[in-house]
This record gives sequence, structure tokens and C-alpha cells, in this order.
Amino acid sequence: MSETIVSCKGLKKYFPLRRGFLSTLFSRENLYVRAVDGVDLEVRKNEIMGLIGESGCGKTTLGKTIVRLLDPTEGSILFKGEDISKLPQNKLIKYRTKIQFIFQDPYESVNPRYTIFDIVSEGLRINKLASKEDIENRVYTALKDVRLEPPESFYDLYPHEVSGGQRQRVAIARALVLNPEFIVADEPVSMLDVSIRAEVLNVMLDLKDKYGISFLFISHDLATAKHICDRIAVMYLGKIVEIASSEELVDKPLHPYTQALIAAIPVPDPRAPKVTVKAKGEIPSAINPPKGCRFHPRCPFAFERCRIEEPQLREIEPGHFVACHLY
Ligand code: SF4
Repeated sequence: MSETIVSCKGLKKYFPLRRGFLSTLFSRENLYVRAVDGVDLEVRKNEIMGLIGESGCGKTTLGKTIVRLLDPTEGSILFKGEDISKLPQNKLIKYRTKIQFIFQDPYESVNPRYTIFDIVSEGLRINKLASKEDIENRVYTALKDVRLEPPESFYDLYPHEVSGGQRQRVAIARALVLNPEFIVADEPVSMLDVSIRAEVLNVMLDLKDKYGISFLFISHDLATAKHICDRIAVMYLGKIVEIASSEELVDKPLHPYTQALIAAIPVPDPRAPKVTVKAKGEIPSAINPPKGCRFHPRCPFAFERCRIEEPQLREIEPGHFVACHLY
């Protein structure tokens, strides 16, 4: 088994809820949105780990907390064995180049007034990490690695002068130029046309193979995650409910929530066997999550124990973890 590059244990991120004057007066209890509520997860070297779940399940908050764009409420985050969860921002600088974040929206994540050369070289220039000549070489290589060729033809273009797929590859090049070891990619293709998604996904696969970069690939799309990821973790209402290799998770899902996500994937052949589990209703509020198993109000298999006792994530088969009382 390859070494772990990033791991988190018991990671929590709560956001205090703003309340009006009267509700503060009549209630002393502080309310929190429990966006991430005790997550254990590890990403191995040279691995693409998928993080899947519905909107509002906490996956983007988890990604931002792992890279310390958000401060954790509780728990540890180890990067190559060093706990970075409590480091103040001024001590995080040495990790900033090694750990990068790619945002969902390529239209908003790059400065429209900068040329592509300026966007990609910004991290090197601001942090004074390279000489002028070195900067040019590294920008050239980064653009080539993300398949924007010939690289020099993109130097003087502005973000609005390239396509959405190219703009997202510029955002990847901006991260890549800093020689990262771990990248969190937050729904990097969800804003792109289906026809150009494959380009961006293949760039990520190339970078993993060429430089051994590890990724946390956040998505709500299980079919895309199966194509690109080595392993997948499924998140529901702030918790991880299942982790397995991509094939095993999609071909042999154990958790009823994962089964419901797979049932929602369209199958082109109507005669093909299909998982038919359906989750009832909507995802509940993360302010006051259900007691016991958080999925029990929506689970078609819920029984008495599910309403009382919270299931823990346990290894059911080698490498296959699930949090469900059925196993
Ligand atoms: Fe369903 Fe119970 Fe398993 Fe939760 S623990 S997923 S409610 S069967």
C-alpha cells in the first residue's frame, strides 16, 4: 500500500448561526451548521480520491478545511505526517505551494484583468519563488502540461478570450506551476460543457501519472468519479458513510445512500440490471441532524436501532468501509 500524503481524523467544521435579537434573548443555546462533523479520511500518494455526495452534504467545506482555506473547529489534518490543523496562517506559507485548491467556477477563479501569463505566474512572483527566466520556463511547462499548446500563444490572452475548458486548464496550470504534491479539485468540470469535460479530466490523470500528484476530486457525479478516481468516499450530511475502490463502490455498493446515488445514474440500455434503491425526501438540515443514523429518515431499510445508535465506519471487506447497521 502506498504512503499517505494527507489524512484527517475527527475533523469538524461548524459555522455559528446568526440569529436575530429576539431569538438570542429567549434562547441561550448556540446553534451551528455542522457542515463537517467528524470525518476520518486519508489520501495516498499518487492517488485520486473521489469525494461524492449531494449538494449541501459538506464536501466543499471538507475540501476547503483540509487545505486550511477554512479553520477546523476540531480534529487533526496531517500533511506528510505533520499536523497542520492548528498552524497559524503565517506558518502555513511553506505548505501553500505543496497543497493547492482548484475552484469549481473557472469564470470567477481567475482575475479577468490579468493575462494568462500573469495568472499562471502570480504565485511564483508574489512569493518570490523563482527568477524571471525560471518563471518563464515554469509557466511554459505548466501550460504545456495542461495541453494549452503552443504555450506562448496563450501568454498575452485574457481569460475571456479562451473557452471554458481552456480557462479551467489555466486554473490548473496556476496550481501546477508551484509544484504541488496534493490538489483539492472542487467540481472542476461541473460548469463545463459535457463535450469538453474529458479534456480537463484527462489533464488531471496525466498530472497524476507524470508528477505523482495526489488529488481529492470533489463531485456530485458518481459516473465521472468512477472514470477518474482510484478510490471514492461517499459523504452524507457531514459524515463519510462509505469508502472503497471506484469499481467496488459502483459495482457493489453497500450503503443504502450509495445505492440510491447509483440508482440515479442513467443507464443507456433499459435491459441492463440496475440498482433500484431510492432515498425518500430531501437531505435534512445540518443544524439539527437526525439522531442515530443520519440517513434513517430517508432510508428504505431503516429499523429501530438506526433511530437510536449512530453507525461507525467499519471495514467490512478488505479496503471497503461502510457505516451502516445492516453490516
Ligand atoms: Fe439505513 Fe439503518 Fe443503514 Fe442508516 S444504519 S443506512 S438507516 S439501514
